[in-house]
Amino acid sequence: MADDGAVLERLLRLSRSVSEDPLPRVLEAVADTVMAAAGFRTVVMNVFRPQWDDYEAVLVVGEQKSREVLLGSTTPRGALRRLLAQADQRVASVFFFLAGGGSSVWDELSDVYVPDIPRSADPGAWDPEDALLVTLADVDGAPLGFMSMDEPCSGRRPSDADLRLLRVICSSAEQALRAARRTRAAEDGRRLLERLSQVSSQLIACDSAEAIDRLVVTTIERELGFERATAYRRDGAALRLAASACRGDDAPPAALAVDAAAAALLAASSAGSGCWLLDAHALLPHAHARSARNGRSQQGWSDHCLLVPWHADGALTGIVIAQDPGDRMVPSDERRRTIALLVDLAAAAHRALAQRSALDRLSRHDALTGLRNRRGLDTLIAAQPNAALLLCDLDHFKRINDRHGHETGDRVLARFGELLREHAREHDIPIRLGGEEFLIVLPDTDHAGALAAAERLRTATTARLADLVPSGVTVSIGVALDGNGTLDARQLLQRADRSLYLAKERGRNQTALATD
Ligand code: GH3
Ligand code: MG
Ligand code: MG
Repeated sequence: MADDGAVLERLLRLSRSVSEDPLPRVLEAVADTVMAAAGFRTVVMNVFRPQWDDYEAVLVVGEQKSREVLLGSTTPRGALRRLLAQADQRVASVFFFLAGGGSSVWDELSDVYVPDIPRSADPGAWDPEDALLVTLADVDGAPLGFMSMDEPCSGRRPSDADLRLLRVICSSAEQALRAARRTRAAEDGRRLLERLSQVSSQLIACDSAEAIDRLVVTTIERELGFERATAYRRDGAALRLAASACRGDDAPPAALAVDAAAAALLAASSAGSGCWLLDAHALLPHAHARSARNGRSQQGWSDHCLLVPWHADGALTGIVIAQDPGDRMVPSDERRRTIALLVDLAAAAHRALAQRSALDRLSRHDALTGLRNRRGLDTLIAAQPNAALLLCDLDHFKRINDRHGHETGDRVLARFGELLREHAREHDIPIRLGGEEFLIVLPDTDHAGALAAAERLRTATTARLADLVPSGVTVSIGVALDGNGTLDARQLLQRADRSLYLAKERGRNQTALATD
């Protein structure tokens, strides 16, 4: 062992490293200090992997041969526990194994390194089969790792003082691993929240249900640590695939039975705040239930799936499924809450979208006739090249109001609206411009076709509205077309206006087509 002053100096440098350096540097510094201050030629740092329930040798300092054998080797947690039960623990967390202890547990370990040093009959001398381990754990007892050291420079078995010094040095590695675990958890939480708040504004801005579903699955896949995410929407007794984000290229099932989803939910082993963890085989066909990201520990992922139901008015309207977690672990409560929250936000976005489109519909339609109103008229006409316009104005409508009352007037308008709808071909667009003035846009229609349609409508008006007004109702219709394709929507409407004026001037109840 080095002299006391040198040891203290080393410890001081180590404690500085713990507070300043990234984790791998700290672990190296701990191993170096074990070598230099405690005097061992081989030091191995094993870090616990919760998803595999084992320890992986991430750092081996010593002979080339020891590095070859040990680096990357793993020790199952159970094997280590059984091994430690047979060791001598004179100092807390420091375990010394005397050679010839007859432990069969060493045989469980695939990679054991026995240094090539001579044996001695001296009971105080280090035997090549001796072993020394220091365990590292979090304050809650959760395993973080263990260190092992071999080949003391002194050639002697360790004294109690040696073991205590080792304990002090190794506690630096313990502190660094604890801090890393906390930083990871805190950063995870912060990142999730940050991402969720960005996504929530993107969700609200989505202009289609498909876009919302797509954003949900891509967020789960890209940001929440799963390699497969799918969304299904209810369609009767089936749940149809609405969106999927998968890292592999196997397509998810196109549909699932609602019954199967309901049964799987009932059988789910655990529900964490609206997010259900279940055996994927209970819900999905075998090939899709198998996970490429299974772990091995108690908290390890094992062909699970995480399911968040989508409800509206108490009924199941869809489900979101997450599979294949990148870390191979059953997700923490926090992660599950995040997914459930994301799906809740998406449900709110779906509701907002439905409300917006209902409002939008209302604002574009006339309440009395149910026809479109004049909002966006120019755009609508401009989008229909080669269209003919029929501008219709009921004749002497003021008189109808005056003689029979406004209510009758309204009934006439509503009936005329029905008539326009009945006469409209699939792509014709009837519009109430205001008052008793209506427009029909007839896409791809020539002169003869437009005039014929106008005449049919005019005669049908007289026939269909006779029962509402004893003296009869007639309509004047102005026709307009853009023969040369040179007029814009405004100009075409003006031409229809001139035609209508002509029809009125020539005595009403007729169709007219203004020439330039
Ligand atoms: P013309 O043959 O020249 O078109 O004569 P008109 O009486 O039809 O035309 P005018 O523009 O003078 O009158 C239109 C009337 O339509 C005036 C207005 O009170 C009435 N009107 C407008 N909107 C409504 C409505 O929603 N319901 C009812 N009942 N009447 C309406
Ligand atoms: Mg009018
Ligand atoms: Mg009128």
